[in-house]
Amino acid sequence: MTLGPWPADAWRRELARAVTDLEELLDLVALSSDQVDAAQETGFALRVPRPYIARMGCGDPHDPLLRQVLPTASESKSVSGFGVDPLRESSAVVDSGLLRKYAGRVLLIAAGACAVNCRYCFRRHFPYAEHRQGSDFPALETVRRDATISEVILSGGDPLMLTDAHFASLVQRIGAIDHVHRIRIHTRLPVVIPQRVTAALIDVLASLPQQVVIVLHFNHGNEIDGDCARALSALGRFTLLNQSVLLRGVNDDADVLVELSERLFAAGVLPYYLHMPDAVAGTAHFDVSETRATDLHRRVTARLPGYLTPRLVRETPGLAAKELVASSQL
Ligand code: SF4
Repeated sequence: MTLGPWPADAWRRELARAVTDLEELLDLVALSSDQVDAAQETGFALRVPRPYIARMGCGDPHDPLLRQVLPTASESKSVSGFGVDPLRESSAVVDSGLLRKYAGRVLLIAAGACAVNCRYCFRRHFPYAEHRQGSDFPALETVRRDATISEVILSGGDPLMLTDAHFASLVQRIGAIDHVHRIRIHTRLPVVIPQRVTAALIDVLASLPQQVVIVLHFNHGNEIDGDCARALSALGRFTLLNQSVLLRGVNDDADVLVELSERLFAAGVLPYYLHMPDAVAGTAHFDVSETRATDLHRRVTARLPGYLTPRLVRETPGLAAKELVASSQL
């Protein structure tokens, strides 16, 4: 099986040549440092794959893709109410690398890194080193022993950072657990390096006895280019959902959100959640107030059919499920 022109290792080459230097990023998008509020040292490294940079507008300091990845001086400001673990994930840890927040589901930290470092990341302070999995994924023993777990969510970091062989080993181990009915994969890799969708990846997912749900993380319609659409088409036999984060200066605009939903659906992906930003230290400049979010969501709801309207939600630690931002649903 061949997917377009991409050799199986093309994505690894893109990973290796991802841009990690601020000046190089600014050069590539034809900006100078005095046009943006950029900062080299923020404690969270700059990392952007080139296929993603290629979708940014040149000479535009407000480009919505650039804004998601450009380190800024605002990240170093201490803002009241913003902390390192606002979702209290540390209290959801049931084993090294395994979090349990909701009934019937566990979340496995399958990898400790991502292809891109999103400046708004809710896990930018997560202690990945404490949750590193060995090659045999020992946390799965907890899943094997607990028959109430019907869904395993692979997260990270980005679970598709694992090599095809390592990823296959992981999902085949989960595949052998009878009481697990669904495997859900949260990933931004097909967004930033569509070449990650290799024939080997699709083959191993298709071979699993469980249903496979892939949750993509697109935040703006400009993120969906031809290669992305091709990657999504290749994943079309699986359930494809999208979760966006509502981000000031990126997608806090009804026209942008409507276009994102339209483009997602055209690419075979259902818009699922629009998340309120989490109160993570270093991300306050992306925050959108609940009043504004509710108003935006009302305007989007009025323009789209229900199946194209993502649910506006927030995660509140300790609740049994994500919480609908109540008054925004028509
Ligand atoms: S891909 Fe997800 S986990 Fe990784 S940096 Fe971006 S938001 Fe964070």
